[in-house]
Amino acid sequence: MTTTDEPRSPRIPKRLRPMIWTVAFLSVCCIGAVVAVVQLLTDQRDDPNQETLLAGCGSNVEIDPDAEFPSIGGYGSDQIRNAAIIVAVGQEMEVPSRGWIIAIATSMQESGLKNLANPAHPSSMELSDEGVGYDHDSVGLFQQRPASGWGSVEELMNPAVAAEKFYDKLLTIDGWENMALTDAAQAVQVSAFPDAYAKHQPTAIDIVNTLTNGGARVANVSTELGSCAAAGEISAAGWTVPVRAPVWSGFRTPERPTHYGVDLGAPRGTEVVAAAAGTVITSECNASLNGGPYSCDVDGSPEVAGCGWYVNIVHAGDYLTRYCHFGQAPLVQVGDTVQAGQLLGYVGSSGRSSGPHLHYEVHLEADRSPAGAVDPVAFMEQMGAPLGEA
Ligand SMILES: [Zn+2]
Repeated sequence: MTTTDEPRSPRIPKRLRPMIWTVAFLSVCCIGAVVAVVQLLTDQRDDPNQETLLAGCGSNVEIDPDAEFPSIGGYGSDQIRNAAIIVAVGQEMEVPSRGWIIAIATSMQESGLKNLANPAHPSSMELSDEGVGYDHDSVGLFQQRPASGWGSVEELMNPAVAAEKFYDKLLTIDGWENMALTDAAQAVQVSAFPDAYAKHQPTAIDIVNTLTNGGARVANVSTELGSCAAAGEISAAGWTVPVRAPVWSGFRTPERPTHYGVDLGAPRGTEVVAAAAGTVITSECNASLNGGPYSCDVDGSPEVAGCGWYVNIVHAGDYLTRYCHFGQAPLVQVGDTVQAGQLLGYVGSSGRSSGPHLHYEVHLEADRSPAGAVDPVAFMEQMGAPLGEA
């Protein structure tokens, strides 16, 4: 794994070092110098087990439904038990862990991970004391409707059977592993509010990682836990590295306290891909010199201000990623929906940059200002797509 900080790698040829140091001290980073106290990840703010979360890439744990479960992301022990049942059924059916995340996020939206009864089916009222819902004749964790042929009330009020029926439908959808969570969930549920699923993805990832010791970090198509997603693969959490390259300069290092991203040392012309599915909200040239406009179609310099040709993408969970210094105009436009791994453009040196590299940022809560920025190395590690050469 690559860590932050200095361009210290002995593998970098000597002749390149002066250039690298210049990049390290002078390049990039667009906006002002607001230093905010930003914690690592929103969804880990209250999590004392963060180190456990960062430990592995999943282990096939026996999940005992009678065990006492921790609270995670505002969900209590009973709700997490239901999530554990969803995971256990997925493991038994050999559904890739991407599917567990989709199923848990769906249940969060449909029932708050509660096995809901419905007065429309009086018999359901005897089968659970976790709450009552009133949507049509929907029941259970996924609000499946007996009247629509999902199954009997007794079946759908059994969390394990309800999960099995969810997975049965999910597995019939071509390419579901690579879909944005919203699209996969919507294909199963046919909800009137499909966009509502995506916001639950970060907590669903946390829950899967906690219950399975990092099971969201395997490849999205893998049915085996234990092996982390390789660079270039998309993780079960839905993330991939934007380029495979060493980290030349880290996030807010002592030498560069206003460096709100990492510099990835990829050669000119290297493909830069979207780190996760999302929507492009910026695709433009950002460069000026001495207050006047400056072209992004030529190499910039440390004297130039701005990101050069760059892209901002907003992802499920209101994460925002930024990609700077492309060599020519990005291949995506504002409003485009992109998939994880989709080509955005090519490494260059436009804007404030003294040599070709990708400057990459991750922000929380779609806050594009420096206050929203977090360390991309830690974030990408958490999402199963660690930055670096490996
Ligand atoms: Zn940078």
